[in-house]
Amino acid sequence: MKLIVKAPAKLNLGLDSPFIHNDGSLEWNMIMTSIGLSDYILIETNEHSNQIQVFSDSGFLPEDGRNLAFQAAKIFVKEAQLDVGINISIEKHIPVAAGLGGGSSDAAAVLRGLNEIFETNYSLEKLARLGLQIDSDVPYCVYSKTSLVSGRGEIITPLPKLPKMKFVIAKPDISVSTPRILKKIKHSELDHPNIPQLLTGINEHNYQEIINNMGNALEPITSSYHSQITALKQRMLSSGADVAQMSGSGPTVFCVCSTESRAKRIYNSISGFCNEVYLTQPIYL
Ligand code: ATP
Repeated sequence: MKLIVKAPAKLNLGLDSPFIHNDGSLEWNMIMTSIGLSDYILIETNEHSNQIQVFSDSGFLPEDGRNLAFQAAKIFVKEAQLDVGINISIEKHIPVAAGLGGGSSDAAAVLRGLNEIFETNYSLEKLARLGLQIDSDVPYCVYSKTSLVSGRGEIITPLPKLPKMKFVIAKPDISVSTPRILKKIKHSELDHPNIPQLLTGINEHNYQEIINNMGNALEPITSSYHSQITALKQRMLSSGADVAQMSGSGPTVFCVCSTESRAKRIYNSISGFCNEVYLTQPIYL
């Protein structure tokens, strides 16, 4: 049996961490949305083996147990007590280690895909719980629709669709290690965005309220190491963006505007400045 599953990238419209738990894990308060930039995962069962194998067209990804898609298949096979081989081929489009949740989305897509192939009928809640063992972004990616994400990443509250908006996304040519940035968090010094007000903007379908309240508490930390982040943001704003900020722990920067024509203008302006630029919009699985 084979199935192709879509794994969309995510953006953090709002990202905050209110406190750290006693076990050292971070409490999150985030608003995430999924976008029309996706990896595609081909999942095939292999009756002649009980191995999990991962292949990828990207030169950068591990193809062994370090690959988050591999980890997802391993967890699923154990949970469903399956005795079958699984081959996973990843067609990679989402930039790696970019703050766009590519690895988490691949893992979530594998969980959804195996649930369909083996007709296990696990609920999204259950798949999200399995996914949390891999990374705090996997539970959101199981849903892949605009949501408030809290707890350690496992409490997902789906939200209404966003008003019409376009995103221009730019990935500077630098790598950021998420664990390294998270270790730098000092809660007393974080610049907390107003997530409740951002939530109100989304619930009221109010574009301007959303724009006014977006923010990412990790941005000052990552930009203190990489000046390109601030430079890209400034260029986006001076090209006509309504707001610009970093996604996740970076280094990807994105901006929001309400019309396709303005988004194209910003896209053209940023393309002369950065190699990896995308024009896209929110999507819903
Ligand atoms: P997040 O915002 O969730 O921290 P990210 O977008 O910053 O994620 P990813 O692209 O998910 O980063 O990659 C993070 C690390 O995970 C990289 O070191 C990469 O090698 C590893 N990784 C393992 N499996 C995958 C995968 N299928 N796709 C991308 N990265 C993967």
